[in-house]
Amino acid sequence: MLTFETIKEAQAYLSKIGNKTLGFVPTMGALHTGHIALIERAKAENDLVACSIFVNPTQFNNPEDLKKYPRTLEADLAMLQAAGCDYVFAPLAADMYPSLPSLKFDFGNLEKILEGEFRPGHFNGVGIVVSKLFHIIKPNKAYFGQKDIQQVAVINSLINDLSFDIELVVCDTVREYSGLAKSSRNRRLSATGSEKAANIYKSLNLGKNLLQEGKSISETKQAITKFYSELLDFRLEYYEIVSFENLENLNIYDKSKKSAIVIAAFLEEVRLIDNIVF
Ligand code: AMP
Repeated sequence: MLTFETIKEAQAYLSKIGNKTLGFVPTMGALHTGHIALIERAKAENDLVACSIFVNPTQFNNPEDLKKYPRTLEADLAMLQAAGCDYVFAPLAADMYPSLPSLKFDFGNLEKILEGEFRPGHFNGVGIVVSKLFHIIKPNKAYFGQKDIQQVAVINSLINDLSFDIELVVCDTVREYSGLAKSSRNRRLSATGSEKAANIYKSLNLGKNLLQEGKSISETKQAITKFYSELLDFRLEYYEIVSFENLENLNIYDKSKKSAIVIAAFLEEVRLIDNIVF
């Protein structure tokens, strides 16, 4: 496994891999088995696999969250090596951003709803860093997790609007046995916090089941409000029943159409997101 620390090194090397296919997994490190599932899928579908590890400052709207984001480079490299990753790109912020970019993306309604509403500027930062990474790595396929459902929609729009010759591959969410979606942020939860956090996935399934049993959107949301009113440690930011197509709120659930429930909640000051598609 080769590790590149600068854009120049990565570009110089990767421009010479010839006609081998390259799969790419962008991450912010603090790797877990969810990330490794993406690496494994990329490995199965390409000749070579590259992973980036970069805690991207431009996508953090909250400086405290950026400061507290876990950084575990040595352990990450060991996991990537064991998973058979070929290249790691782990740049410094000063190399990625010699000056802060003034570039502004407009992802339309996508950047105004859900994560976009609660994390202003987040998707602009994602758009900038992913565009830069795509230019540096030049992969054939890029692997993203369904866990960040709105990010997938943003990347899809980025690839189409900027004509990146890259296939977007979306991978299922890897969960703990309890149902808790694996996340780098889970490391910041206490042992009891981790146990309690399983209620997030429980509430997604509860909502899905109620809708599928024929309950209305408002009845379902009332049941969810009651569910969380009994769990005092959670602070719910949003719990929305949305169309899978554009992530906009549904007024009526139509079982013939693909829908999703998306959630963001704070537990022990850690912001967790998850979703279920049905
Ligand atoms: P992150 O390091 O959190 O930016 O995540 C890097 C990539 O891994 C993103 O495409 C995420 O959606 C994906 N990812 C994160 N957690 C999971 C998970 N539990 N299962 C599958 N993919 C994940």
